[in-house]
Amino acid sequence: MRNEAVIIGAGIGGLSTARSLARHGWSVTVLEQASALPSTGTMLGMWPQAVSALDAIGAGEAARSSGGWAHISGGAGTRLWTPEGRTLMSAPGGADLNLVARPALLAALARDVDISFDTRVDDPDLYKDAYLVVGADGTFSRSRHRMFGDRFSARPLGAVAWRGTVPGSVREHGEIWAPGALFGITPAGPDATNWYACINADSTFDAPHLPRLTERFGSWRGTVRDVMDRIEEDGILHHGLFETPKLPSFTRGNTALVGDAAHAMAPFLGRGACESIVDGAALGRAVAKASTLDAGLAAYDRARRARSQRLVRSSRLMGRFAMMRTGVQARNAVIGTIGKLMKPLIS
Ligand SMILES: Cc1cc2nc3c(=O)[nH]c(=O)nc-3n(C[C@H](O)[C@H](O)[C@H](O)COP(=O)(O)OP(=O)(O)OC[C@H]3O[C@@H](n4cnc5c(N)ncnc54)[C@H](O)[C@@H]3O)c2cc1C
Repeated sequence: MRNEAVIIGAGIGGLSTARSLARHGWSVTVLEQASALPSTGTMLGMWPQAVSALDAIGAGEAARSSGGWAHISGGAGTRLWTPEGRTLMSAPGGADLNLVARPALLAALARDVDISFDTRVDDPDLYKDAYLVVGADGTFSRSRHRMFGDRFSARPLGAVAWRGTVPGSVREHGEIWAPGALFGITPAGPDATNWYACINADSTFDAPHLPRLTERFGSWRGTVRDVMDRIEEDGILHHGLFETPKLPSFTRGNTALVGDAAHAMAPFLGRGACESIVDGAALGRAVAKASTLDAGLAAYDRARRARSQRLVRSSRLMGRFAMMRTGVQARNAVIGTIGKLMKPLIS
């Protein structure tokens, strides 16, 4: 094997793949359209499998020791509640939660990786003669388009999100579910709080966003109000939510897709970035172990496609469940009952 790869995109998926391949002795070129890694961004939940993958590609320690890592021990103070402040469920004790700020994660992943910035790849065909090409170019991936055409373009989920970070901590974290809307609150280190809000909507909204957020969420009780009071217009990120249709394969010819290019998903389970890290670790391992590139790519597809496509579906269903417009009382009653039944098991 020639052990050379061209990676299109220096996001979480591309950089995880670059690290993984480099650790297996590959020479890697990373092409990124932006002129630098982002210096701002919100928190990403890190599930245990992603934390293990970060360690496997040698970025775990750097991420954990960065100022951007937050840890909630035993799920303390995490609950699901209604806009009126009624608790539907408290977090099961014992499950630690890890979160990392996107810029801190990207910086940890980018250590020792050479990135060619200001390099937009409009035509991935230019790299058809490379030994291995990795399409890590996100939700609206040109690499995916080249491999599978228009039919597999990202499709809108009929929902939009706002997110940001505010100064100071708050006394509780979790999500608040209302008909057609949710608001989430997580820590962002010792002195900051991360928030996100979603509603069902067919398209995004023009700025200013704060008046709309205040109108929609400003009357919600307790901690939401506390967070809302600290949000400033300049710090609000806003975008539509999309998912990748179910691809027949994550590879074709000499090209593999990773991250959102392969499986963009709704954010309601907090899995997209996690799965992008796991993809990168898995792709490096698969091609390093195999005797031919074809065998390595087939092993990667087997290891990652079914699982991540299940998560795309589960994330979409979770969003529908959280933001359902009718039957909310019945749903809340079921959640409340489950919470009560689980209490003796977890306290
Ligand atoms: C509201 C919200 C909340 C989320 N919360 C979580 C969470 O808590 N936990 C979690 O695990 N995930 C979360 N996610 C998902 C996560 O953000 C994504 O899954 C993850 O960022 C995907 O990384 P990626 O590298 O595949 O894509 P991207 O981050 O999109 O990176 C793609 C890179 O490719 C570059 N690029 C694109 N096109 C080209 C081109 N033609 N040429 C060169 N470069 C190009 C881009 O500039 C970019 O740097 C959330 C997502 C949203 C929307």
